[in-house]
Amino acid sequence: MNPIIILGAGHAAYSLAREIRRHNQDQTITLITRDSGDSYYKPNLSKALASSKTPEQLVLKTREQQEQALNITVLAHRQVKSIEPNNQVLELENGEWLPYASLMFATGAESRRFEIAGNANAEVLHVNDLDEYRIFTDKIQHAQRVLIMGAGLVGCEFANDLHSQGIASILVDPAPFPLAALLPAPLGNALQKALTDIGVEQFYGCTVSQLTATDSGYEAQLSNGESLDADLVLSAAGLSVDTTLAASANIQCERGIVVNAQLATNQANIYALGDCAEINGQLRPYIAPILPSVKALAQTLLGNPTDVVFGAMPVSVKTPCCPVVACPPANTNGGEWRIEGEQDNLIARFEQAGKTTGFACTGYATSRAKTLQQEMA
Ligand SMILES: Cc1cc2nc3c(=O)[nH]c(=O)nc-3n(C[C@H](O)[C@H](O)[C@H](O)COP(=O)(O)OP(=O)(O)OC[C@H]3O[C@@H](n4cnc5c(N)ncnc54)[C@H](O)[C@@H]3O)c2cc1C
Repeated sequence: MNPIIILGAGHAAYSLAREIRRHNQDQTITLITRDSGDSYYKPNLSKALASSKTPEQLVLKTREQQEQALNITVLAHRQVKSIEPNNQVLELENGEWLPYASLMFATGAESRRFEIAGNANAEVLHVNDLDEYRIFTDKIQHAQRVLIMGAGLVGCEFANDLHSQGIASILVDPAPFPLAALLPAPLGNALQKALTDIGVEQFYGCTVSQLTATDSGYEAQLSNGESLDADLVLSAAGLSVDTTLAASANIQCERGIVVNAQLATNQANIYALGDCAEINGQLRPYIAPILPSVKALAQTLLGNPTDVVFGAMPVSVKTPCCPVVACPPANTNGGEWRIEGEQDNLIARFEQAGKTTGFACTGYATSRAKTLQQEMA
């Protein structure tokens, strides 16, 4: 029997291997990943400083431990060169061909990179995996002030985590307030104030237009005319899916790898899940959608075709200065936010035709997140 091959060794890949194994002890499963295959929980990367965890301590299981625990093979530090969907084979970079029964893309997403004028573009740090986190933790040993481009979930979490180590940070974002993709303005403003209170400088409605390396670090010119100094620059400006390999196999791709409700691509026996998958025009770059995806996909692979159902999936933002839980509405047509609470402790319900179709809460009000989620059912 040809193996099920899973590309990647992140949360989606290992969760799928575990779920298939739960139902089937005999099926050969091979993971092919460009990283070491050691598994870690990626959301921990932006809160590990506060918990004094080194990058090594973030590894939950080594590749060998995962291979043993799940009875699978993990080909680490390997890349796929090409896929021939009609023959159900793929070619590794070394020219070796591997047949597959089913092929799963669980290749995640890449940090979005963009050109910034000046001489320091190549020195901008990104943290989207454990190796990049190692580089980041080495560099911050000598830093007192870190410029973070992007005040979304990752940028805000790093700002708060750096503060726990006495390292100052500066957030720059083109939106009018932090977490603008997840929160209505009053809640974003509450988070902004809490970050200000712990000493995080913030610049909204502007971008870094030029970055120059100086003798002592970096000088950033902002599009609003201001200029800033920092010892390090971290980009947290979102993710984009690398669709090159999938597209080269004539798999339909848009912002991600396009899949149907059963996570199937337009090529027979090729599926995608996790950050790389696009369903109904939507990317879902969070942990929570992975569980229903692997449950449904494992059933489909066992011969019981199953649609994935996501339901309401709140995201918790790990900013201890002002915790946030957000579950934005799928669309905002004809609806509006209703907000209650005071100071940092706010609840926002998004209401459409008399129904709560999204919510967000901050501060102590995050203890109401479960109840708010139930209101959406
Ligand atoms: C700092 C940070 C904090 C986060 N915090 C949260 C949070 O609090 N809550 C939340 O819900 N989400 C959070 N996320 C997002 C969450 O971690 C991701 O949604 C999740 O890890 C995606 O899992 P994945 O398996 O799809 O992708 P990944 O974990 O990115 O795994 C992709 C795997 O594919 C491999 N790969 C990539 N390309 C190839 C290739 N061509 N060939 C072979 N292998 C390849 C990679 O090496 C990796 O092993 C956070 C993300 C970051 C970066």
